[in-house]
Amino acid sequence: MNPRISSATADTPGKPLTRAGKTCFRLLAASAIVLGLTSPGLSIAQDKVLNLYSARHYQTDEALYANFTKLTGIKINRIEAGDEPLLERLRAEGRTSPADVLLLVDAARLWRAQIDGMFQPVQSAVLKSRIPETLRSRDDGKGSEWFGISTRARVLVYNKATVNPQDVQTYEDLAKPALKGKVCTRSAAHPYMLSLIGALSEHLGEAATEQWAKGVVSNFARTPRGGDTDQIRAVASGECGVALTNTYYLVRLMRSTKPEDKEAMSKLAVVWPNQKSFGTHVNVSGAGVLKNAPNRDSAVKFIEYLASDEAQAYLADGNNEWPVVKSAKIKNPELESLGPFKADTLAVTAVGKSQIAAAKIIDRVGWR
Ligand code: FE
Repeated sequence: MNPRISSATADTPGKPLTRAGKTCFRLLAASAIVLGLTSPGLSIAQDKVLNLYSARHYQTDEALYANFTKLTGIKINRIEAGDEPLLERLRAEGRTSPADVLLLVDAARLWRAQIDGMFQPVQSAVLKSRIPETLRSRDDGKGSEWFGISTRARVLVYNKATVNPQDVQTYEDLAKPALKGKVCTRSAAHPYMLSLIGALSEHLGEAATEQWAKGVVSNFARTPRGGDTDQIRAVASGECGVALTNTYYLVRLMRSTKPEDKEAMSKLAVVWPNQKSFGTHVNVSGAGVLKNAPNRDSAVKFIEYLASDEAQAYLADGNNEWPVVKSAKIKNPELESLGPFKADTLAVTAVGKSQIAAAKIIDRVGWR
């Protein structure tokens, strides 16, 4: 996947960039990054710039970044790519990397970046007071810190015509004989799945989780493929009876005005899994200041901005994620219509760490 370079400025609040504008900003971004490579930090720092590597892939974040520039005058040069390509790029760039902040989706990836020593300590009283302890990294002894900025839950969706709601109340149900030939998932090697399977292994133990995974594989309606939205659509079409999805994909379809999306949503029901046991699996999108950040002050300011009530509302209203900050007010009726639920309180660091057990389990049961 080729990384995409773009930039949000105060001139473009919430509006997509024009083609000419995009070319111009790409050039600016590219030259700023080259400057960073040849004279680390100096000219970039004077220009009040932030170099952001982001694995968030949501169009609605444009307004979030533009608002930061409007408030602080700090321009954001952004490189967007998948989690793994970004981590590879950072490893290759090493100490000469121009990147200031790394923004990732999923605790599994954040934990990986942390143990690779990519982040530096931030020691921000603002972040410590606003972001709950279970949604940020613990001290790993190397001073490598990251912060959850939004949460999402991994829920079940089922086809109302083909599946009995009593059969889909827990993640464990996906392995039961009642769902033979009805279960669809994306690849289990994807971080969203690794984190869920890892969290289950924390709760149920590794052996029981492996038995469960074996049962899920034997219940497949088809070979794992596609992303979360593809699973939702396949449940709506009847190809699958039940599937897993992150909530923001679901709410995106709930908010869609397209007749085909409305039709698809009318076929489905949503379940908060494991309400009578450990609660529904919750994951985060999060950010950390990179170890060699040339613009450290801008980087800390940016992450503190992400934890502001204003930015938290952008994340909730724009991308249908829940705020990590309690005081943040949201205006997203579809997201709110999902109602309250019992969330798994497992710390995101434990979720991240458990991906190693999860990777072994999916290999052994052939869930790819
Ligand atoms: Fe996603």
